[in-house]
Amino acid sequence: MGDAGVGVEVGTGTGSEASAGASVEVLTPRDVPLGGPRAMTVRRTLPQRSRTLIGAWCFADHYGPDRVADSGGMDVAPHPHTGLQTVSWLFGGEIEHRDSMGSHAFVRPGELNLMTGGHGISHTEVSTPGTTVLHGVQLWVALPDQHRHAPRDFQHHAPGPVRVDGATLRVFLGSLAGETSPVRTFSPLLGVEILIAAGATVTLDVDTEFEHGLLVDEGDVRFDGTLLRRAELGYAAPGRTTLTLTNESDREARTVLLGGPPFEEEIVMWWNFIGRSHHDIAQAREDWMTGSRFGEVKGYDGSPLPAPELPRTPLKPRGNAR
Ligand code: MN
Repeated sequence: MGDAGVGVEVGTGTGSEASAGASVEVLTPRDVPLGGPRAMTVRRTLPQRSRTLIGAWCFADHYGPDRVADSGGMDVAPHPHTGLQTVSWLFGGEIEHRDSMGSHAFVRPGELNLMTGGHGISHTEVSTPGTTVLHGVQLWVALPDQHRHAPRDFQHHAPGPVRVDGATLRVFLGSLAGETSPVRTFSPLLGVEILIAAGATVTLDVDTEFEHGLLVDEGDVRFDGTLLRRAELGYAAPGRTTLTLTNESDREARTVLLGGPPFEEEIVMWWNFIGRSHHDIAQAREDWMTGSRFGEVKGYDGSPLPAPELPRTPLKPRGNAR
């Protein structure tokens, strides 16, 4: 019952040798001000020096709970994206989304909003006037090379809760615990909010080809033997048949589980763009600054965000160290 154990229990099947004794790597967050006149600070766990991606997940910002009266809330002026999808998932508050394909949506707790930048999109994100506390995650997914110029797209999904012994899951992308999200992705992905009862342990069957990251929003959670504190992201390499999560705190823990097969391509990530070369990024920047490719956001009161200057030294593609 209360025994969190150490190490990883794997099934008796074959091909699981990679997981035997493989420990969870703890990625600690760094504080990043979002900028602007009323800067809200986020905790970033991806990318970082030791890890660029988990599956196709390439960016993880965790924020709040922030009292909007103190932080000023969120007000992100029109800005572009290319080569990626953005995933907005809230635990509290509400954000108004507008984009250049004409979408106008409200991001609410427990509801996935997945925006495909593809070839190019621009959008705004503003916390609504009724929001007193803002709390959630902003995640990015790198698009595989063959799909990175896909048409812009916006999908919404409110997954129903799945109850397993000791936990409640909301599967917003991929499949877990018998539940499958209908949301389309360009590579196999897993994205699930998992609430774990105080003191409970939950063991989940997972795809052995997937690597996983567990982000802890609240509570102290032991992830396959390694204790993760609030705002930490635990990385588990592929080869596992199960993941075991134990809430070692005395109240409900909230986590977000991310997964996917290792992303084999190297990417260049700069500002709000993902490409494969310095040239791709320079072109995207040029297109944004000259008002082409990314379209226009209607209904936002304010000027678009200018792109920062490109660094003097060419941007280099990055992947995960092997
Ligand atoms: Mn954005």
